[in-house]
Amino acid sequence: MRMNPVVTQKISESISDYNKDITLLWHGGEPLACGIKHFSLLIEPFKKLKNTGILDHTIQTNGTLINENWCEFFISHNFNVGISIDGPIWANKNRIDKKGQETYARIIKGIQYLKDNNINFTVIAVVSKESLTRAKEIYEFFCMLKCSSVGFNIEEKENVNKREICDNNMVTNFWSDLFDFWKANPVIEVREFSQILSRIELLSTEEDKEPVNLQYSIYPSITYNGDIVLLSPEFLGAKAPQYDDFIVGNINNESLLSIINRMNNISYVDDYVNGIKKCAMDCEYFSFCGGGWASNKFFELGSINTTETVFCRNYKQRPLEAVVNQL
Ligand code: SF4
Repeated sequence: MRMNPVVTQKISESISDYNKDITLLWHGGEPLACGIKHFSLLIEPFKKLKNTGILDHTIQTNGTLINENWCEFFISHNFNVGISIDGPIWANKNRIDKKGQETYARIIKGIQYLKDNNINFTVIAVVSKESLTRAKEIYEFFCMLKCSSVGFNIEEKENVNKREICDNNMVTNFWSDLFDFWKANPVIEVREFSQILSRIELLSTEEDKEPVNLQYSIYPSITYNGDIVLLSPEFLGAKAPQYDDFIVGNINNESLLSIINRMNNISYVDDYVNGIKKCAMDCEYFSFCGGGWASNKFFELGSINTTETVFCRNYKQRPLEAVVNQL
């Protein structure tokens, strides 16, 4: 389903008085599938905000539809471009199109268009069980690809994805090997290592004696029809009768700021905050992690008001250990 430009008009109106930097992240499904003409209509309402310099467009795409015209579009509207690709061809066998065809060759072709047009791009890669023992190949691939940064998502159990990696030793070794290779050749940014190293630096300074202290992001996510969920885009389309399927309102009826102002009365946000409080009390990783993601807690454990998940062990605890053990 395509988003109606009326929805983006409403979004634009509802954030027009927001005086902080805003990143609009276009993702979910394949955002380029709506075509350039329609996408141009969607971003039109944000022109004024964009010109003031407080709003940025970022897109996360599988890259298969990128061509010269899309490159022109990205350049003229100053888009930050993120590509979803998991590594060399063998690592992408789960990236198939609706017909069940592998998409690797088309992703690489799309990336080549970006390179030919000097458009910087970042990468998000899913690390499957098959990739865990091949950190060197994966890292070398992304160096060769010349992305500016890569973020690794260890495959997780979330919404429709029921596969999950549970082998902690393999995950520990992956992060450890990856950190080794990155240290030896740090030509691209690895998102997770940058976050950890900057946090270590911050915690070591005199100014930052306080722990993370229950700071969390609410990440409003809006569907094609204007429905809004908070905390995690993975909640879009999820079934949770106790939380009204996580939908907290619709942009056509209420402004985003109004919803954010009443978020303390939203039960799953409350559950999430209580879960973070437990994390703060119980977890030695809290000052680095801040309490994890609501969606992982919900999809793994069936509760948001909780603490440790496989995801946080694999994605927060293991990379931190890998970095700290090798510093
Ligand atoms: S690592 Fe896990 S248990 Fe620890 S603070 Fe993060 S989410 Fe909570």
